[in-house]
Amino acid sequence: MIMSDVICAIATPPGKGGIGIIRISGKDAIVIADKIFHIAGSNSLLVKKNGTFSYGRIIDNNKIIDSCIALVMHNPNSFTGENTVELQTHGGPIVLKLVLTCIINAGARLAEPGEFSKRAFLNGKIDLTQAEAICDLINAKSDKAASLAIQQLEGSLTISLEYIYDSLLEITANLETTIDFIEDELPDDVFSNIKDLFFKSKLNLQNLLLTWNQGRVLRDGIDVAILGKPNSGKSTLLNSLLGYDRAIVSDIAGTTRDIIEEGIIIDDILVRIKDCAGLRDTNCEIESEGIKRAESLKESSDFIFYIIDGSVEIDKQDLLAIESLPKKTTLIILNKIDKGCCVDIKSGVKISLLHDNINIIKAQFIKLIENNINKIDTNTMISERHKMILEKVNKELILVEELLNNNIEEKAVVICSHLRNSLDLIGQITGRIYHNDLLENIFSRFCIGK
Ligand code: GDP
Repeated sequence: MIMSDVICAIATPPGKGGIGIIRISGKDAIVIADKIFHIAGSNSLLVKKNGTFSYGRIIDNNKIIDSCIALVMHNPNSFTGENTVELQTHGGPIVLKLVLTCIINAGARLAEPGEFSKRAFLNGKIDLTQAEAICDLINAKSDKAASLAIQQLEGSLTISLEYIYDSLLEITANLETTIDFIEDELPDDVFSNIKDLFFKSKLNLQNLLLTWNQGRVLRDGIDVAILGKPNSGKSTLLNSLLGYDRAIVSDIAGTTRDIIEEGIIIDDILVRIKDCAGLRDTNCEIESEGIKRAESLKESSDFIFYIIDGSVEIDKQDLLAIESLPKKTTLIILNKIDKGCCVDIKSGVKISLLHDNINIIKAQFIKLIENNINKIDTNTMISERHKMILEKVNKELILVEELLNNNIEEKAVVICSHLRNSLDLIGQITGRIYHNDLLENIFSRFCIGK
């Protein structure tokens, strides 16, 4: 499916750099590039072999715009699967804009966000999971997230999904053939074989679904709220975790009003830490709003650090607050123990944020993460979109299972229709089946030039 129009875009990020890259892709990409790119002598880009570089000049109306390198790729040996030219120009924003204008004047049009990747998908170079992996790789916020994305780009998820797809297809085909046969003519083990294969496929699907939580954490990171009464040391904790003074630390209670959010990497996971207003009764309207926001973080955060001044007797407010927090995902910190320790809560970490090493908190937090997020030893992780679809597949397979266990011979037609639904759904993940809205939704999240 070679698109007739030629698209172009700056592929390198905005700003100054040593080199800037402009991509041109489409049936006439080389013809258009050849109109503006001049090689010394009588050489032309049109005669260049696939994968070759040429040095030349971009000339517009007899004016030299830049000297640069052109890489020519012939259909289907390019990212998009189309004829493609990549120009490596000098990396200034003005020079790149001038070269881009020349290319547009020569007959190309500016690409939409993700349009190169969309063409790669439509031309069968990558499937949808791989296209999504490109976006994840570009946006990766930690080493682990990047390595996850590259594995998906290399096809790890495609392989897992294809395996399930092929097994379900085989089951459907085998079951369909039984429909037209009289029972006595069928081999004895036909239904038991179908059942065996079905249960294996269902298990594979469920194992894949289990990878979502870990995938989500590695891909998107986690949200942690620091809660506690004013002056307990919330801002001190945020600053210590970040390693610089982000929030104002003061012994005047009620200093932090708005939510302060910063990201750090802990154990190769992006952690978005939110410091907020201290929880207390107040008549101040602004502080009340801050406390309301802090309260809302209880629900929306993955984890909570609840911090208490451990040097004084614990009061009712702290006790009630701790009672209301989810035990499995809350780390209780008893701070200021340099002034003495008057509180003893079994799971609480005793610390003086002014004196102790913050790694004590980090280590406890890593344990908490490990207790909550199954570490799955697989490279195949699914995303939110994949999870939503696979949950639908799982529902279909639960129905199939009931029918398989209940008079399989008579229910074959209904079972096959549920299996077909499952196949269609899996096809939506890889892009075997797609509609324009889905592509729009996926590719619009890309940057221009990718
Ligand atoms: P927040 O209102 O909960 O954000 O509390 P802050 O982080 O602003 O700290 C309140 C006061 O307690 C500041 O004067 C801090 O310097 C002090 N503080 C924080 N941690 C400790 C600690 O471990 N020991 C002592 N002695 N003081 C601390």
